[in-house]
Amino acid sequence: MRRIESGKVLSNHKLAKGMYRMDISLPEISSEVQGPGQFISLTVGEGWQMPLRRPMSIASIENDSISIIYKIFGKGTVWLKERTSGEVIEAIGPLGNKFSLDKINGKEIILVGGGVGVAPILYLHDQLSKDNQDHLLIVGAVTAAEQFLEHSPKTGIHLTTDDGSVGEKGTVMTMLEILADKVENPYIIACGPEPMLAAIYKFTTEKGIEGQFAVESYMACGTGLCQGCVIETTKNISKEHTYHQKYSLVCSDGPVYDINAIRI
Ligand SMILES: Cc1cc2nc3c(=O)[nH]c(=O)nc-3n(C[C@H](O)[C@H](O)[C@H](O)COP(=O)(O)OP(=O)(O)OC[C@H]3O[C@@H](n4cnc5c(N)ncnc54)[C@H](O)[C@@H]3O)c2cc1C
Repeated sequence: MRRIESGKVLSNHKLAKGMYRMDISLPEISSEVQGPGQFISLTVGEGWQMPLRRPMSIASIENDSISIIYKIFGKGTVWLKERTSGEVIEAIGPLGNKFSLDKINGKEIILVGGGVGVAPILYLHDQLSKDNQDHLLIVGAVTAAEQFLEHSPKTGIHLTTDDGSVGEKGTVMTMLEILADKVENPYIIACGPEPMLAAIYKFTTEKGIEGQFAVESYMACGTGLCQGCVIETTKNISKEHTYHQKYSLVCSDGPVYDINAIRI
């Protein structure tokens, strides 16, 4: 069940260039979380300074606290960066659906996280590791300063940087094409900026590979009321179909979709 809760900031620190992690005590919301892919939405600013909540994927849950990993983008995330331990933040959640692992059917999982899209992917990586489920992880960034994991191909963790300053040089696609070719029956689960998802979409469609995306579209209410976060689906493309049949709401139907169910 979805809840609104005021949570105490437990810690808020820099992970890498422009990337921060905040741990918030949210016992009620965390007790309702179903799994990786779900998100919370945070009230930022004072009064009506910034009326729209900011959706943030759940990056991990420990005891009663929820961690988020955020990238400084505009005034909302700058406000988050300035919060210190003990301050209170209002959250609504858990929101959205989770990655569906029962669709994988023995295929070999390749997780791909780019930029801030790494948060739900790391939560899933931790869960799969705890369940001793084999998988590979690719995390892409522009340069080494934006990476906070260790490049460790032996343990299945592959970093990529556009400038080659750590890990494989290139975008996540360079590594994804290599790994997808190496494993017998790949299944790709990804979250990241739209150009990254578009490149993976093209690749999986051409190769007939299945998978899931967590989509981080612009969003206002987070609960299906404002209808602001629509994404086009591959179903019901006939002109006679209504808006509601052609499109899906990322906040309440997503953010996780089968790759072949949406148009990127
Ligand atoms: C499901 C989901 C999960 C996310 N998870 C993360 C995460 O884990 N980490 C992370 O860093 N980011 C995440 N984001 C993105 C994050 O919510 C935005 O990056 C953040 O709101 C923008 O940063 P800001 O508040 O500093 O930007 P600002 O510039 O202060 O605010 C941007 C605001 O304007 C609105 N806005 C801007 N352009 C448009 C537009 N064209 N249409 C409608 N509204 C617009 C946005 O909704 C937002 O409220 C997620 C988004 C979604 C939908």
